[in-house]
Amino acid sequence: MAVLVAGGAGYIGSHISIELLNNNKEVVIVDSLMNSNEDVIKNIENITNKKVKFYSLNMINEDELEKVFKDNNIESVIHLAGLKAVGESVKKPLEYYYNNLVITLNLLRIMKKYNCNKFVFSSSATVYGQPKTVPIKEDFPLSTTNPYGTTKLMIERILKDLYNSDNSFRIVMLRYFNPIGAHESGLIGENPNGIPNNLMPYITSVASGKLEVLNIFGNDYNTKDGTGVRDYIHVVDLAKGHIKALEKIEKDDGIFVYNLGSGRGYSVLELVNTFEKVNNVKVNYKFTDRRPGDIAECYADISKAEKELNWKPTKTLEDMCRDSWNFIKNSK
Ligand code: UDP
Repeated sequence: MAVLVAGGAGYIGSHISIELLNNNKEVVIVDSLMNSNEDVIKNIENITNKKVKFYSLNMINEDELEKVFKDNNIESVIHLAGLKAVGESVKKPLEYYYNNLVITLNLLRIMKKYNCNKFVFSSSATVYGQPKTVPIKEDFPLSTTNPYGTTKLMIERILKDLYNSDNSFRIVMLRYFNPIGAHESGLIGENPNGIPNNLMPYITSVASGKLEVLNIFGNDYNTKDGTGVRDYIHVVDLAKGHIKALEKIEKDDGIFVYNLGSGRGYSVLELVNTFEKVNNVKVNYKFTDRRPGDIAECYADISKAEKELNWKPTKTLEDMCRDSWNFIKNSK
């Protein structure tokens, strides 16, 4: 009996695969390697001293994906595969809708055919759109501001309809806040191609001299220091949330949704200052205009996940900054 991790060679999927292996689960990874490479699989095996079964394929191809279910006894699926760049999704909406929706439908149709009923979906805090208040609870109104976010919300709705039609499915939708950090081994982490969109990879690129200066998008927000506030969570804490989510649907029937964040808001300047302090490196920055579409503050109420999943993030902002930098230094 194996867990299929769709998108398991990616930043978050690789950390989840490690936690699964550490929990003595058999792991099958499917990944297109569009945003990753096979070294990640080797590193997962080196870190855990266990083997994973790896398929390099694009899940758009239903026949190839079905072969994975034919060849293995898949008991549950953690689904993180998909395109994920917010800005790019605005420029290429058709690619985003086609890719993210079709691979998910292929996966669910095949699961139904093979009577595989446990599904954990990687959703995002982006489904809360522009929340009116913080901290954000799971029952807040949902809306989106870009095609990437809309694919996440559409998939959540598809999952609800699927469950309503067939309540033998057991589903958890996890809404991630801002995952950063890396595995403490320094062997896997986030290393995006090209110019990063997100704050932490931008910070590490400036710290390593790859980019000259960090543009801080706005210092006139109504926040503690004027810069934007987000809920950064260590990727290993986030990965552990998936193990708890699987345990939940091994035990209980139903469809569930949980925020996964640290439950705390940190400003851009707090993150930059902490990064500089714990790593003893300089991050050049300057203030620029606000980024269109950004909100002042976004952080989670995580009490539902704490209570129902018996999960609690344990890593500090210092840990996140140290581990992110350790991975970049190690991969140079
Ligand atoms: N941010 C920034 N400069 C950058 C990238 C991000 O000042 O180069 C800020 C952004 O305005 C937000 C925070 O950092 O307040 C986190 O942005 P990110 O894109 O990582 O996450 P999201 O906004 O999607 O939560």
